Amino acid sequence: MTVPVLGEALLFAAGAAIIGVAGVLLARRARDRRYGRLVSVDAGSGGGARLRSERFRISGRPDVVRRRRDGRSIPVELKTRPLPADGPPRSHIVQVWAYCLLLEETEGVPPPFGVLRYGDGREVEVPWGSEERGILLGIRRAMDLPYDGRARPSRARCAQCRWCAICDARA
Ligand code: SF4
Repeated sequence: MTVPVLGEALLFAAGAAIIGVAGVLLARRARDRRYGRLVSVDAGSGGGARLRSERFRISGRPDVVRRRRDGRSIPVELKTRPLPADGPPRSHIVQVWAYCLLLEETEGVPPPFGVLRYGDGREVEVPWGSEERGILLGIRRAMDLPYDGRARPSRARCAQCRWCAICDARA
């Protein structure tokens, strides 16, 4: 490769790198605008905010909590696997709802939504409102009941099972 051609290649590579960094920064800024500033990160270190609700007897530590300018917090749950083709599993959605409830209980302000971020970079916003709260509290009540030992899933069994809403093994 001649010197001018090498110089052009280096210039091209530098330009591509600058565009890449700018893209990342723009994406980060867009996310900060929508989800708010970073408040806490767990990422397996145990350093995130541990949230507890005595009223509902649940606790948990969201992977990430962000806070918007309007004072509402957003829980972000990180998943290492890619987003499944048929969307987030029900158990992932219920997990985000639980963090929304915990933030609502501990901060007194309900999050507008939570976020599932998958290993392939895709994100799903999980709405949080009175309907979702009602479903989650129904699941919470069911969790106080003993598991009744149904071992072989079938459409008929699962349709009548109290765990159906959160069970990924349901038929
Ligand atoms: S919903 Fe889940 S727990 Fe209930 S019967 Fe089906 S597989 Fe078993």
